[in-house]
Amino acid sequence: MKVDLFRFALILMSFVVYFTSPGQTSLLTTAEQSNYASTSTYNDVMKFAEALVKTSPYIRVESFATSAEGRKIPLWVIGNPLPESPLNLAKDERLVVYIQANIHAGEVEGKEAAQMLARELLQNPNQEIFKNLIILICPILNADGNEKFSTQNRTNQVGPVNGVGVRYNGQYLDLNRDAMKLESPEITGIVTKIFNQWDPAITVDCHTTNGSYHEEPVTFTWMMNPNGDRDLINFMRDDMMPAVHTHLKDKYKIENLFYGEFINRLIPDSGWISYASEPRYLVNYVGVRNRLAILNENYVYADFKTRVIGSYSLLWAILDYASSNKNKIAQLLQETDNGMMNGFGASHLADSFAIRYEGRPTPQLITIKAIEADTIPGMRGYWRYKQSDRHRTVTVPYIADYYPLENVAIPYAYLITVPDKDVLENLINHGIIVEKMSEPQILEVDGFVIEDLKSEPRLNQGHYTNAVKGHFEKTSREFLVGTYIVRTNQKLGNLASYLLEPQSDDGLLLWNFFDKYLVPQWGEGYNPYPVYRLMEKKEFSSSPVK
Ligand SMILES: [Zn+2]
Repeated sequence: MKVDLFRFALILMSFVVYFTSPGQTSLLTTAEQSNYASTSTYNDVMKFAEALVKTSPYIRVESFATSAEGRKIPLWVIGNPLPESPLNLAKDERLVVYIQANIHAGEVEGKEAAQMLARELLQNPNQEIFKNLIILICPILNADGNEKFSTQNRTNQVGPVNGVGVRYNGQYLDLNRDAMKLESPEITGIVTKIFNQWDPAITVDCHTTNGSYHEEPVTFTWMMNPNGDRDLINFMRDDMMPAVHTHLKDKYKIENLFYGEFINRLIPDSGWISYASEPRYLVNYVGVRNRLAILNENYVYADFKTRVIGSYSLLWAILDYASSNKNKIAQLLQETDNGMMNGFGASHLADSFAIRYEGRPTPQLITIKAIEADTIPGMRGYWRYKQSDRHRTVTVPYIADYYPLENVAIPYAYLITVPDKDVLENLINHGIIVEKMSEPQILEVDGFVIEDLKSEPRLNQGHYTNAVKGHFEKTSREFLVGTYIVRTNQKLGNLASYLLEPQSDDGLLLWNFFDKYLVPQWGEGYNPYPVYRLMEKKEFSSSPVK
């Protein structure tokens, strides 16, 4: 009875909160209702969306994936007018912006910020932003991880005190390492249903960082893999990201900084670096698709409310910029696409494909309100870092400009001689155009001769990933009916090279897709890599593969 009374009081309280909150915020998130002690469960998020749909005609709830544990992953489509489907976008002048949160389900402020953002957008459907943007939101990408609440998860994070979920999804995969191999329903869903269909101009991915000590609660950076279009990377580096930084500080009063960590955590003057540049990370993957992407990492030592408000304000600052620069962004992306489609023999070949690359300083130094670290003894003889009370502002190089160290020329087409359904499915899921040869043909091609093939001794995301050494050799070879053809003069040509180049640092060979073809059952050495590079333009009789 006592319990029932308690429950009744709770329900009554939530009604009171719902109807009597000040200002416009009649519908509150779990974080707001709990005074930032708790974060939303999956059901909280789904109910929040139901309430939004009841009060506004400008939002629709869809789903783009079902998690391993059976949860429908929501996508909120927001626009005025609300687009009926991505098929109607051809004549639509609006830019599509996609915001996702909770890819790592212990990093929860983006999930709260995304809900607040949707609510605030819908409260004013006549605002300027709606003339220029369609907004897609996935507030809870890793729903399975979210539901594994514990106060023992992310114990170094300052709130919410009532616990958060775990990093991995229902398959024990890190979703932010899955963008190339596409083994999770969540990331496969994003790529097939959001990227391929809605083709967002801008993607935002919300996290919490664990890195170096500083005062700024919000950090962010952009896609930086050098196999994405350089003009787009430079546009982010020199134009959009500095503008968002200033706008977030001036208009929303949020101290912020480009994402990174000190090269030497004990020495703030050592420089500031953003390490992760491979396209297995979703933001870099979007860059290799030649679209704009922003990684939001909020500072783990800032309290939960500060992180939520910071992330929420950053999302607004990004939307403000996208809305006022819609035409510039659309034109830039169109030029990039045109360059890719007409690509073979054109300027993108000059860059070719980078198989090794390095980070260099961006042209501008970065100023950081650093807090110096000390070391203290940790477990098993290791040292740990501890925040000191010594605050010091430093202006240092930002290592976030990735440039090739070793290139290979991009071929006209890749010819895949094994009818492998996993390889084919991966390419098709990415949205890459694949054709099938319908008449046999003898062609002069580059074949990759493997000299050495080693797999990593420790499993990584369920894979003993491969490291390959070898060289290309010119060879004349008959290609049979059914050979798969992937031309590089398509919008996703860079991505096709990334997946199919044998020496790629995040390709299908690395992720074991070709393992069974590479080593003969008897004898020494290796089989040739079953993907050949056709360097000259050729006509084929072929049919598209769907
Ligand atoms: Zn994260």
